[in-house]
Amino acid sequence: MRRGIAVSPGVTVGTAYCIHEVFVKPNAEKLVGPAIVHELARFENARRRSIDDVRLLQQKVQKQVGKDAAAIFAVHETILQDAALVGKVRHWIQHEGISAQEALSRLLDFYKRVLSGTGDEYLQERIDDLRDVIMRLSSYLSEALQQDSGALDGPIIVVADELLPSQVVMLGTRSVNGIVTQAGSQTSHAAIIARSRGIPAVSGVSGILRQTKTGDTIVVDGREGHVIINPDSETEAAYRKLEREFVDLRDQLAHNRDLPCRTADGIELEILANINGVGDCRNATAMGACGVGLYRTEYLYLTHPSVPDEEEQVENYRAVLKAAPNHQLTIRTLDIGGDKTVPFLGRNHREANPFMGWRSIRLSFEHPEFFSTQIRAILRAAAPSRAMPKARVQLLFPMVTNLEELRRLHALVNRNKQALRQQKKPYGEVAFGMMVEVPAAAVMMDQLIGAVDFVSIGSNDLVQYLMAADRDNPKVSHLCQPLAPPVLRVLSNVIGICSKANRSVTLCGEMAGQPLAFMLLLGMGLRRFSMSPHFVPSIKELAAHITIEQSEAILKKCLKQTTTKKIKSLLKDQLLKVAPQLEPLLTEQ
Ligand code: PEP
Ligand code: MG
Repeated sequence: MRRGIAVSPGVTVGTAYCIHEVFVKPNAEKLVGPAIVHELARFENARRRSIDDVRLLQQKVQKQVGKDAAAIFAVHETILQDAALVGKVRHWIQHEGISAQEALSRLLDFYKRVLSGTGDEYLQERIDDLRDVIMRLSSYLSEALQQDSGALDGPIIVVADELLPSQVVMLGTRSVNGIVTQAGSQTSHAAIIARSRGIPAVSGVSGILRQTKTGDTIVVDGREGHVIINPDSETEAAYRKLEREFVDLRDQLAHNRDLPCRTADGIELEILANINGVGDCRNATAMGACGVGLYRTEYLYLTHPSVPDEEEQVENYRAVLKAAPNHQLTIRTLDIGGDKTVPFLGRNHREANPFMGWRSIRLSFEHPEFFSTQIRAILRAAAPSRAMPKARVQLLFPMVTNLEELRRLHALVNRNKQALRQQKKPYGEVAFGMMVEVPAAAVMMDQLIGAVDFVSIGSNDLVQYLMAADRDNPKVSHLCQPLAPPVLRVLSNVIGICSKANRSVTLCGEMAGQPLAFMLLLGMGLRRFSMSPHFVPSIKELAAHITIEQSEAILKKCLKQTTTKKIKSLLKDQLLKVAPQLEPLLTEQ
């Protein structure tokens, strides 16, 4: 049994499907004769297509973002044209009969070994570039992961280092029942994706890729954070029973989707969904969310082959608005940097502390035209439409730190409205909101509140900054806890100030969908919660079984505690009292 961090609840047993950095077909036989010639031609074809790609990317990024940002693609082209590098791959295919992908995998390992020992930052960055190029080549060589995994029967359990957006796209409609990753934690890509699809997942399991091979039977326990490779038959049977219980509970709770969301004493709540794209809107509707409280637009950029231009963005936002439950949509501007990067932004600039560095609006401010394109697209998507008379779009800015930034953002929005008027392009009025995820903003909430229409608390980041514990580092996950006493104090304060100022306040971090945290947030006066769609039915269930008075009483008790452990244990007792049927959904977090 291997231990990791429980990041998405549920239990599943299935067949492992390992995704290595460069996808290599398991047990591929040595190539001979014409197969070698064919493989060389495939490699050459992938190389040509990749060169075309990076040239196009360079032009597009130069036009839409700037010359400096586009320079990275010239570097990528140099790598694709490098005679020594290309020669090595060809040599291995020709003389050792290995596939092009295996040769690329070997090439990456070779340069990682050679360059990582130097400790030279410049060379380190070149490894990142080489990795990007190899991933691009590999995507042409593997066509679709979907086809390669087609040989395995039934749903798969993905085992990867970290699940990249490009890999998720490649998985397509393949049925994935579980996810296990070596890196990451509660709030990393893989975790967010797993939760948005309602898939049990465990992260931070070091070395799992070395210990598992495709085809192994694997148990994923997303409540306890356990992974078992090739369990004995008794263990497997026990976990299959748990899996059935989990699925039954999920099906049962799905009936809640049409119920209005209110507490046991009749107080109305808004349960909204966090989404990454139009596909998630269908989930949000199916699960009974009453709107979209957070559209993370990063995925639009991360999964785009180049850079989405204004028209493409307008089209995307309109499609999302159309698909969003009740046509209620909060769009967050690009939050890139930190753990999420796109090759053309912030990558040619290595930082010691990326989470505390150049991310989100800090980065967007330095590319004003690029930033404005997104703001204009959001304003245009909000233009009144007869087909959706009740539609509402809200504009949300991430990582706001101080009042100066809010003033700058207002000026930028106004300038873009003016530009749209001049261009005679229709746009709509949008509410202006800030995310509270930087402790400085939380501390100054009373001063900032006057400058915004609404607030959305990003507890994933707020917790990591408050506790000075990286949200993606499993070594400090015991500190990065949303139920820690200092976090509760800060949240209570922020929610109180917003309510007093009569401003709408939502919490859209992962804790909104966690039953224990939900009870406390309710007690703090929060009435709008935004979460991965799959948590909506269980939160509705819990809400229906708890009164405001009960939640206030448990909050009062918890605020007096000095340790996270005690708070969790009090909350667990309370949950088992009011809604014991939800026990299978509790994670060790
Ligand atoms: C957060 O920080 O809580 C949040 C919702 O944003 P993200 O997880 O995308 O950083
Ligand atoms: Mg955040």
